[in-house]
Amino acid sequence: RAELIVVGTGYRAIGDLTLEAKASIVQADTVLCLVGDPMVTGYLARLNPSVRTLDGFYAKGKRRQESYEEMVREILAEVRRDRLVCCALYGHPGVFAYPGHEAVRRTRLEGIPARMLAGSSAEDWLFADLGLDPATSGCQSFEASDFLLRRRIFDPTSLLVLWQVGVIGMTDRDLDFDARDGAALLAERLVAAYGGDHEVTVYEASPYPVTPPRISPVPLAKLADTQLTAISTLVVPPLPARPFDREVLARMRTAV
Ligand code: SAH
Repeated sequence: RAELIVVGTGYRAIGDLTLEAKASIVQADTVLCLVGDPMVTGYLARLNPSVRTLDGFYAKGKRRQESYEEMVREILAEVRRDRLVCCALYGHPGVFAYPGHEAVRRTRLEGIPARMLAGSSAEDWLFADLGLDPATSGCQSFEASDFLLRRRIFDPTSLLVLWQVGVIGMTDRDLDFDARDGAALLAERLVAAYGGDHEVTVYEASPYPVTPPRISPVPLAKLADTQLTAISTLVVPPLPARPFDREVLARMRTAV
């Protein structure tokens, strides 16, 4: 019976839970979750009374990586008890999220089956809420601290999505974290490529159909003065497209 299924609960409270994710929660012997929203946790508990949250592993002053490690160990401990374990994480459980992938990897190492189901990520919701199609200019997604630290190479004529912009440099779970220094660093890097007048959008998906998402347009020069939180994602629209490569264009025409 030992098996691990990692599922995502998406962003829309309850509504984003797929039928397959729901069935996995109902069938599980143990459900562990990290979903943030108490209403969603309450719903999961109605589906399966075994639900326990992993929130307790987070703490101010404790390195996030250590919290994740403890979460993974907790998941593994349940799987080893010969249980069908369902681990529910908000959003897509494998997008900008470490514990789900790591739990699947280590469970398989022990010869126990493990799989992950897809869920709606913040990016899925922003395509819908902001009316953007990644086909138009392509789409680049980076974790904001990684983007800065590794000087990621990006194309400013293609859509850019930056995750975790409100927690740049934060290594623990600090609810009073001041995002301004990180935002200033990021603004500096982006202004060099786009100019200070370029308008970007701070985006926060809404958990409820009756509440609109946060869509705050701001010129790059003012980014550091804008409120950025742990749930903010930054959307940087592309600069005008560069002209076609004529040689490639000619070869494509002869190819068809
Ligand atoms: N697994 C999640 C992402 C977790 S990483 C997913 O699939 O979407 C945390 C980052 O996700 C945040 O820093 C932010 O960039 C983004 N995020 C979380 N909640 C969000 C929300 N309500 N709206 C927009 N982005 C959000």
